[in-house]
Order: sequence, then structure tokens, then C-alpha cells
Amino acid sequence: MTHPGTYSDRRTGAHSRSGGRPTGDLLPVVPRRGCGGRRLLVGLFLLGLVASVLPWWTDTQAGSLAGGTAKLTAAGQISGLLAGYLLLVQVLMMSRLPVLERVAGGERIARWHRDVGATLLVAVLAHMSLILVGYAGLEGRSPLGQAGVMLRDYQDMASAFAAAGLLVLVGLTSVRAVRRALPYELWHATHLAAYAVLLLGFAHQFSNGTQLFRPGPVRTGWIAFYALVVAALLYGRVIAPLAFNLRHRLRVADVVAENPDTVSIYLTGARLDRLTMLGGQFFRWRFLTRGCWWQSHPFSVSAAANGRWLRMTVKVVGSHTRDLRDLDPGVRVWAVGPSGTFTAAHRTRERALLIAGGSGITPLRAMLEELPPGTALIYRVRTPSDVLLHRELDWLAQARGVQVWYVVGSRDDPGPRQVMSADGLRRLVPDVARRDVYLCGPPGLIEQSRQLLRRAGVPRRQIHLATFEL
Ligand SMILES: Cc1cc2nc3c(=O)[nH]c(=O)nc-3n(C[C@H](O)[C@H](O)[C@H](O)COP(=O)(O)OP(=O)(O)OC[C@H]3O[C@@H](n4cnc5c(N)ncnc54)[C@H](O)[C@@H]3O)c2cc1C
Repeated sequence: MTHPGTYSDRRTGAHSRSGGRPTGDLLPVVPRRGCGGRRLLVGLFLLGLVASVLPWWTDTQAGSLAGGTAKLTAAGQISGLLAGYLLLVQVLMMSRLPVLERVAGGERIARWHRDVGATLLVAVLAHMSLILVGYAGLEGRSPLGQAGVMLRDYQDMASAFAAAGLLVLVGLTSVRAVRRALPYELWHATHLAAYAVLLLGFAHQFSNGTQLFRPGPVRTGWIAFYALVVAALLYGRVIAPLAFNLRHRLRVADVVAENPDTVSIYLTGARLDRLTMLGGQFFRWRFLTRGCWWQSHPFSVSAAANGRWLRMTVKVVGSHTRDLRDLDPGVRVWAVGPSGTFTAAHRTRERALLIAGGSGITPLRAMLEELPPGTALIYRVRTPSDVLLHRELDWLAQARGVQVWYVVGSRDDPGPRQVMSADGLRRLVPDVARRDVYLCGPPGLIEQSRQLLRRAGVPRRQIHLATFEL
């Protein structure tokens, strides 16, 4: 072990895990996966976006947009159609449909969900205000007066206002600063209100939407998209997890302390030889025991698939992870996944460099079993006791020819400063620009590393990030 402020190349001293626990068998390198599927998804999304405003386009006569109020109402209708479409896309992204999770990965979907969510909120607010101001102008009322009339006289308008209110609430709680200040469970419960928005907004679209009111192909197509989203939700959230958990019947086999605030949880189950997952992927785990059953948390697998057991390595950061230290063997586990494209199969180059910070080593440790010899690992920790899975890393260094550097100390110490620079990286890994680089750790380390990798000439598409944030 090195001392703070220094780093060293550890290629020797390999051992398997202690305690007679089986170590993962070495698996052949998996074939590469391209980003064609992701492009297809983005293409479909854009196509849908255009298709969602087509009804307005075909419905609108040339010359009918003369006058300010007509333009405002038209803009209100367009933003309404866009909002309806984006809401369905939002729910589809949260359906956990296995194919979406496989192609785009849970973390990327969560990022898309945040971006589309912000656009959806803008579209809904624009729709409301443009329609109110436009109709108020036509009828010679104030926008507030117009809102009162609509609530009183229009069918399903009250539920539409309620849906918009809920959406604003969800949007506000998703602002990063607000989200951080809220307990995760409270934020999550508020977020589930989005399903109510789907229900509340449904009738409004068909009873008040100029383009969806009349029976015809547009209305039928819109209803079909709704049905598709609900079916995806049912499949991704209920049927697929049910099938997975009935097939594998996971249970806690053992909980092993890695250091005072980190444990590895080993699981066994049925037909694990038929479980398809890749190192670097994660599951959402629900431990069916007192105090834990009502919440599911994402943890990456910290060992590759081996047909006999699964493992996650968990750092204690809050109440749930604290409870996991005391899990008893035999506790049933409900898992949803696997998810994520942070895997060796998604790389674009033959060789890889992995950069881990603290507990960010867990998905990388599993990936090391699936990457070819010559892979390099830089492991940033503050103190020697923070190094996790140390003996396994040493074992992998020997068994799979992985170069492992432990970079110990605070970021201002000379060793870490020297390594965590573009020149330092190039000295350590001269062909860094021709490798895929996988980063997992605290946000600060990820951002710092991302910037210096770009300076070291690594193309953006070769940099893969796992932030432990959904
Ligand atoms: C894709 C992914 C993979 C992860 N893999 C690992 C891993 O291998 N090892 C590890 O130690 N940690 C991992 N994490 C982080 C882990 O999920 C959180 O540390 C854990 O959920 C914290 O729960 P808590 O109640 O103990 O702490 P809290 O204090 O309640 O939460 C701390 C932070 O964790 C996040 N969080 C809390 N609950 C959830 C939840 N149910 N779903 C999503 N995020 C939540 C929130 O950002 C929260 O601010 C991973 C996270 C993600 C998103």
C-alpha cells in the first residue's frame, strides 16, 4: 500500500477473496455494442415530435392566422400538442422497459427524463398562458376571467388545471437545489404524481383539444400511443420484474464488511447461470425485510456474472445503506434490472482506462473481468484504508494483466496532482487517447477527470461516466 501523496504500480501480490468465497470465473470478452440503438431512439423521438404537431398543420387553413389573438391561440394549440406528446415520452422513459434500459441505460434515461421534463413544463405553461390570453382576447375578457369561465363551462377543464398544477409541483421539486434538500423518498413520492398527470390530462386532450376532439385517424393514433405507453409501463414495472424474480428467487447469502463503512452483500438464487448481465450494470434492489421492503435502491454489481452468486458492494451514506449492514442471510431480495450501458460491451476501442474514486470502484471491479488484458485502472482514494476490494484488484492485476495504480491522498498532495493532469495521465497511459475511459466516483472527481481527459486528447465519445445519480 502506498502512503498519502504517492502512487505506485501494483501488478503483483494477487490473491483471491479471503474466507473461501468463490471468486468469479474469467469470462470471455463480450462483443462490442454500438450506439445505433440510441440514435434510433433519438430519431424516433424527433419523428414523434414532428408527428405530434402535424395534426395542427393539416387542420389549419392558410390565412386563418391573421390577427394577434389567432396567432396566440395557434401557438397555444401547438404547445398543447407538444406537451401531450412529451408527457407520454416522459412516462415511457420511466417505464423501465427492458429494451430501453438495455439500449440507453438507466442513468442516460434519467438525464433525458430531466431534460424532457423541463421542456414539458415550459410547453404546459406556454399552452395554458397562450390559450388563456388568446381566448381572453377573442372574448374581450381578462385572462383571469377567462380562466374562471373555462373552469366553469368547459368539460374536463378542472382536471386539466389540476394536472398542470401537479406538473409544476413535480417540476419545482426537480430543480437540483430543491431535490438535494428533500429526502429522496419524499422527492420520489412527489414525482409519482406524474402518473396522475397522465390520467388527469387524458380526458382534457380529447374533450377540449381542437385536433383530437373529432373521431378520425389523429384521435385514434393518439389513443394508441397512450395505450402503448400504459402497456410499456405495465410490462416494465410489473410483468418483467415479476418474471425475473420468480425465475431467480434471490436471497441474501452473506454480508461481509470491506471496511468500517462499506459492506459487500452476496446473493444466491435459482438459475443464476441463465442470468444475463454485464459488469458495470446495476439493479434496483428491494430487500424484503423490516424497515427495508418499502424502498428500492440502485447498486451496481461488483462482480461479473458467474452463474453461482451475485454481489453488490455498498458504502454507508444514509439510513437505508446503514440498515443493509445488518441484513440476515436468507432475506429475500426483489431486483429490477439489469440496467446501464456503462459496460465493456459498449466501448468503441479495444483497450480501456478505468478511473475510480472511492466506492466508484464497484462497477469497475466487475468490468475488469470482462475487459481484455492491458486494461489500466487508476484508483483515487483519500487514505489507504479507503481502498476497497484491494486483494481482488491485485488478483485481477495478475490474472488478467490489468495495470492498477492506487493514487492515495487529497487532491492537493503532489502525487494525485501529478497523476491527475493531462501530462500525468499521458505518462502513465501513453495511448490514453486511443482508449475508452470509464469514470466512476464523486461528481468532483468525474468532472475534473473528464476535463483533463479532453485535454489529453480523448474524444468525447470514448468517455463513459457513471455518477451514481438517477
Ligand atoms: C446507477 C447507480 C448505481 C449505484 N451503485 C452503487 C454501488 O455500487 N455502491 C454504492 O455504495 N452506492 C451505489 N449507488 C448509490 C446508492 O444508490 C445510494 O448511495 C443509496 O441509494 C443511498 O441511500 P441511503 O438511504 O443510504 O442514503 P440517503 O442519504 O437517503 O441518500 C443519499 C443519496 O443517494 C441517492 N439516493 C437515495 N435513495 C435513492 C434511491 N432509492 N434511488 C436512487 N438514488 C437514491 C440520492 O441522490 C441521495 O441524495 C448507486 C447509485 C446509482 C444511481
